[in-house]
Amino acid sequence: MKTAIISDIHSNLASLTKVMADIQAQGVDQIVCLGDIVGYGPDPRECIDLIMEKCSICLLGNHDQGALFDPEGFNSGAERAIFWTRSQLENSAGDRQQADRRWEFLGELPRNQSQGEFLFVHGSARNPLNEYVFPEDTYNRRKMEKIFALIPHHSFQGHTHVPGVFTEDFRFFGPDEINYEYRLSDAKTMINVGSVGQPRDGDPRACYVIVEDDLVQFRRVEYPIDETVQKIHDIPDLDNFLGDRLRDGR
Ligand code: ZN
Repeated sequence: MKTAIISDIHSNLASLTKVMADIQAQGVDQIVCLGDIVGYGPDPRECIDLIMEKCSICLLGNHDQGALFDPEGFNSGAERAIFWTRSQLENSAGDRQQADRRWEFLGELPRNQSQGEFLFVHGSARNPLNEYVFPEDTYNRRKMEKIFALIPHHSFQGHTHVPGVFTEDFRFFGPDEINYEYRLSDAKTMINVGSVGQPRDGDPRACYVIVEDDLVQFRRVEYPIDETVQKIHDIPDLDNFLGDRLRDGR
């Protein structure tokens, strides 16, 4: 079984399109999406449509929930982006049926999903929707122990937009430190698959993961960043910063 795991697309269609092409070239059996299809970026409708078509498992992210229900708890730039996203989803763009399908799809997304030895969440096993697990949390042993206690074997997560591997002995490995590969063992691990649409680890390329048997492979994919930046700059309700940060991958 060969699985592609993507997360945090954030309405970046240019990036999602390139990642889907890269996934197609790998010949996978299934695509799993860990949530945050929307928020921040310029193409919410198109991204939801592509995810609906291609992914066999998709989870709810905190920005998806914000667009569905209420944008509470977000900073002002993110909140404005969520209100704008909502307006885009309410606008059917001439196809009412498809607009309804999108709402229904988002409304039915689960918060976690298990498959064999894998647990899929957006944030963490303890708080699937909202908890961040950052590399520096390896210094917070209590936090790490509590989360690892809830993981049957391997957890795949997103939310921080910082890819890498957390081991049960409180270590973190970024993809470039392990040559973009990690072999799963009997020890528990948390794998952050990074972000397709807004990477924040200093590498602006889109990031996702391929898992086959015990091998986890981090993939970085170049995409036309300027295309997305320009679209964001052209939409008054989206802060220019949301585009500019894509160039730095921060
Ligand atoms: Zn996100």
